[in-house]
Amino acid sequence: MSGTELRIILLGCPGAGKGTQAKALCGRYGLSHVSTGDLFRAEAAAKSALGRKVEDFMKRGMLVPDEVVIEMVAAKLDSLAGGWLFDGFPRTLPQAQELDKVLRDSDKRIDLVLNLGLRPEEVISRMTGRRSCPGCGEVFNLKSRPPKAEGRCDKCGGTLVQREDDVEATVRKRLMVYEDLTQPLVAYYRTEGLFEEVDGSQPASEVTAQLAAIVDRVAASRSGAKG
Ligand code: AMP
Repeated sequence: MSGTELRIILLGCPGAGKGTQAKALCGRYGLSHVSTGDLFRAEAAAKSALGRKVEDFMKRGMLVPDEVVIEMVAAKLDSLAGGWLFDGFPRTLPQAQELDKVLRDSDKRIDLVLNLGLRPEEVISRMTGRRSCPGCGEVFNLKSRPPKAEGRCDKCGGTLVQREDDVEATVRKRLMVYEDLTQPLVAYYRTEGLFEEVDGSQPASEVTAQLAAIVDRVAASRSGAKG
């Protein structure tokens, strides 16, 4: 299935596998993948004014202020044609409310909110083992998906790096921030009847299969509703 005009939000604590699953679902359904974390990292690497503004928050494991995130996402939404999947946005109630408002103003709505559930202990072991390739963006994990040659990307041979915010103290801080500010979104979207959860501790391919089954069901009911 491709080019489906679905609008999906992927939630989950840091390290739950949002990036991996977002790529799989976007490839499968022809959706634009919008990762606010990736957008901020690109701005920081380019040393733009926005990048300089957000860099310090990211390094410390804190959230970028809502108004900065919302401005960037609103600009991005304007440039998106077709369906999309947000990965890492919204992360606070004000961001979720603002997204609802922006969508309502353009007569659009969210079709589905998917949550990847994972226990905090598992998050810490996963995230401190995460290594990524700055060249092609491929992500590895020393425990669950080690590169074939130590420190080298299987895909392009680049030198793998650990994200500055994946060191243990920062991971713990990010988890606390998640519990305080992002977890309330589960209740918010549950009451809207859009919410579905998958166990994020399963192998990535199994998680993808379960997420895809949910997306297929929602896509089918949507095209049925359209008649
Ligand atoms: P991620 O790659 O999604 O884990 O994001 C990395 C970092 O970017 C986060 O720890 C935050 O500092 C920042 N960030 C990404 N998305 C958001 C958001 N929606 N709201 C606030 N900060 C964000």
